[in-house]
Parts: sequence; structure tokens; C-alpha cells
Amino acid sequence: MDKEHKEQNNDISVTIIGGGLSGISAAINLIQKGFKITLIEKRPYLGGRTFSFTDSNTNDQVDNGQHLFMGCFKNFIKLLKSLSVYDKVYTQKSLKTEILSKGKIGILKSLPYLGKFHMLPSLLRYPHVNFKDKIRIIYGMIKADLINLNDNNAIKLDKITFRKWLENNYQNENTIKNIWNLIILPTLNDDISNVSAYMGLMVIKNSILAKPKEASLGYSKAGLSQLLDMPTQDFINQRSGKILLNQNVKSLNFNNDKLENIKLSKDIVIKSDFYIFAIPFNELTNLLTKNILIQKDLNKISNLSFSPIIAIHLWFDKIIMNQEFLALLESPIQWVFNRNKIEEKPNSQKQHLCISISGASDLINLSKNELIKLSLKEIKKYFPIADSAKLIQSIVIKHSNATIRHLPNSYESRPKNKTSIKNLYLAGDWTKTGWPSTMEGAVKSGIDSSAALIKYLNE
Ligand SMILES: Cc1cc2nc3c(=O)[nH]c(=O)nc-3n(C[C@H](O)[C@H](O)[C@H](O)COP(=O)(O)OP(=O)(O)OC[C@H]3O[C@@H](n4cnc5c(N)ncnc54)[C@H](O)[C@@H]3O)c2cc1C
Repeated sequence: MDKEHKEQNNDISVTIIGGGLSGISAAINLIQKGFKITLIEKRPYLGGRTFSFTDSNTNDQVDNGQHLFMGCFKNFIKLLKSLSVYDKVYTQKSLKTEILSKGKIGILKSLPYLGKFHMLPSLLRYPHVNFKDKIRIIYGMIKADLINLNDNNAIKLDKITFRKWLENNYQNENTIKNIWNLIILPTLNDDISNVSAYMGLMVIKNSILAKPKEASLGYSKAGLSQLLDMPTQDFINQRSGKILLNQNVKSLNFNNDKLENIKLSKDIVIKSDFYIFAIPFNELTNLLTKNILIQKDLNKISNLSFSPIIAIHLWFDKIIMNQEFLALLESPIQWVFNRNKIEEKPNSQKQHLCISISGASDLINLSKNELIKLSLKEIKKYFPIADSAKLIQSIVIKHSNATIRHLPNSYESRPKNKTSIKNLYLAGDWTKTGWPSTMEGAVKSGIDSSAALIKYLNE
């Protein structure tokens, strides 16, 4: 945007409701384009579903759940750079992940210079599928590669499950369980039998079928709040933006097809030219029920639902794991992350692990004690040295509404950013971003909502 336009935007005020990644992204984008922004968040911190806190017993940072990003998360990475916190994350040069099954470690890694075939050598050596099944997987990957998701017909793939698509393409239980679901369960936060083929293929094509760098994994070395909360507050405050924390938007006052103002919990009324709602879809429907006009936009939202994630943090009195992270193929605890390595604490004598259970609907109703018992049993099974280690601290964080479910037909239920109310826009990982409900989807939705607003101004 040129200087003249930036100056023109100086007089235009935008209130963003919701200080998660989507609201943060919209705020940063609009500030960079010269708008006057106010960011309203009901909690005492920014970051939404990406946050951390200090455990008073161990003094360690505890993330609400282990968050990974991929090299293909271009907008998320750009946001970290805007906040000057890119040095707080680690990104693999190319994908490498270890998978433990029946006492054997398999390694899936990409090799540079092999283009789309970067995973092939490690797949051929992968011990958890036999040779015939490797041929099936290569066939499935070629079929996936040939699909153009931008083609108008591709959206038909949203009507069937990814499992069905894979079965139609000669995949069997072994290849589905030991390769395809290994990728899909953590990325789409649901079992492969539940997710739509459109979203499943989107993940496969943007990661392991893209360039090696796109498939690489990254994580924050600092607690998630250290990465996002204060750096965002500093960014906004230094540029004359306003942040209102601990403020819950309670009601909206419409005048025909315009949102006039919003009322906050302490009877504060905020009036601005434009509003971007960057809050979860269920909270939005509660706020907007009284406006008939916007119901048109929100009718389909009732088809959306949530999928849970459980994070279990365990501390042992001695080191029991060497890898940074490990997938446990047959285990209900799925993935174990070595927080000592992630936070670069090589000299620590105690072991901090974070277990991440995606699509956890079968386990979400277990009590915290039952979840700790289950994880301890599994950890001892996969890391026999843990038998002689003492558990010194544990924290369980259950997120019932961790991400939206990517069930068949759900993509069409996700609304775009522009609504029938001319000064009201939507953002959030659940809007129609082309991405699953992820940090990248959230950041992209913030960019898309500001772009839609700017387009309206230029019309
Ligand atoms: C445990 C866990 C693990 C995850 N792992 C990964 C991962 O590995 N990789 C990945 O890419 N993604 C992961 N995700 C998903 C990712 O965290 C989300 O997609 C992303 O953070 C969503 O951002 P958002 O801005 O759309 O929503 P949110 O983060 O939910 O932000 C919405 C904000 O709006 C605020 N709000 C709501 N109502 C109001 C109101 N009335 N007034 C004011 N404020 C309001 C809320 O307090 C919240 O801060 C994970 C999520 C969880 C929970």
C-alpha cells in the first residue's frame, strides 16, 4: 500500500473482537496499512487457543498443547517475522520424524534435491509397512498429486471421507493406519475415517507432496504466550493501536444493515467504522442470534462442530527420552514431545514430556487421574527406563473445542469473511480459508478479512 493510501486509512477505525491468532493477524495487517485499530479480548492475555503459563512447582513454561507448524505455513511464519520473534522458533531444514512401533523405530524424512519425491528413499526403508504396501502408498501419492484442488470439481471430494478415497485408490488397513493416518490425525485433529477427502488431500499435497522445505516441522522454543502475547501487545501499542483485555463483548447494536456499536461487559460502548469478529463460531452465533440479516451468512455454521485435543505434561526425576518428538503408532497417547530438547535445556536433570492426543473424543471424558495413569502405563511400555523414574509433577489440559471437525460437507459450511452487514467481517480458523483449523488457517483468515474490508473501501 502506498503512503497516500496509508494516510487516508488513518481516519478509518476498525474494532477487532477476539485476540487469538486470527484477531492478532487482522490487527497487524490493518496497522501496517495505516488503519486505527482496537483489539478486544475477553481473557487477560492475547493468543487465544495458543497460550502458555508458568508451572509454579517446576518453574517451567507449560503450553496449553504442543503446537507444531510446517514450512508451508507461510502466513504464520510471516506474522512471527513481523512480531520479530522468528528467532524464538525452530524449523527443521527438512522433515524428519521418528515413529515407534513394536520396539522398532522407523524414520520418515525428506531428502533435498529430489523435488516431489523427497520422501521416497525413507519410505522405501520404512519398517512399519511391507514392500507391497509401499507400492500401494506410492500409487496413492501419485493419484493425490494428480488432483488439482483448485479445479471446480475438486470440491466434490468434500462429500466423501478421506478413508473412502484411499480405499478407492487401493490403500489397505496397514497403509491407512501406518502412513496416511499418521499424517492426518495430528494435522486435521480427527481420525482419517471422519475427515473429508478434500481436506485430507489438501494436507498431503501441501506437505509431503510439496517441496522438502514445505513439509518441514517447526515449533516454538519459548512458551506460546512468550512467543505471541507480549510481542503482539508491544507491536500494537508502539503503533498507537488500542488493546482492551478482560473485556467481553456482550451485545451488538445494529441499525438496518450496519453495526452501529458494541457493548462490553462493563457497559462500555465502542463505536467504529468497521468490525472484525475473530471469535470461535459457537460464541459468534450466541452474539448474533438477534440479527436476521446476518443469519443468512450464519445458517450453515450450525453444521460445524469441534474436535478435542488432550495435552498431558509429565515431569520425571531423570531423563527418559532422547528424541525431540516421537509418534507411537499403536498407542492411545499418539505423540510424545521432549520439552527439554524443545526448550533447549540440555543440562536439565529432570525430564519434561508433553503428550498430545488428537481427535480425543474417546478419552475426553476420562478424569485427569485416569489420563495420567494411562499415559504413565504407555510411557513405561515404550520407554522401559521410565520404570525406574519417579513422576514428580503432572498437568492435564483438556480442550473440548480445540479445532473444528473437517467432516464431509463441512468445508461448504465455512463462511467467507465478508457478511451481509456491510461493516462486519469474520475471521477465525473456522472460516473458509482453504486451510484446516490450524495456526496458518487462523492467520490467513485475519489477512483475508482485512483484504475483504480494503476491497470494499476501494469499490
Ligand atoms: C491443544 C491444542 C493444540 C493445537 N495444536 C496445533 C498445532 O500443532 N498446529 C496448528 O497449526 N494448530 C494447532 N491448534 C489449533 C490452533 O491453536 C488454532 O487453530 C488457532 O489458535 C485458532 O486461532 P483463532 O484466532 O481462530 O481462535 P482463538 O484462538 O480461539 O481466538 C479467539 C479469541 O476470541 C476471544 N473471545 C471469544 N469471545 C469473545 C467475546 N465475546 N469478546 C471478546 N473476546 C472474545 C477468545 O478468548 C479467544 O482469545 C491446536 C489447538 C489446541 C487447542
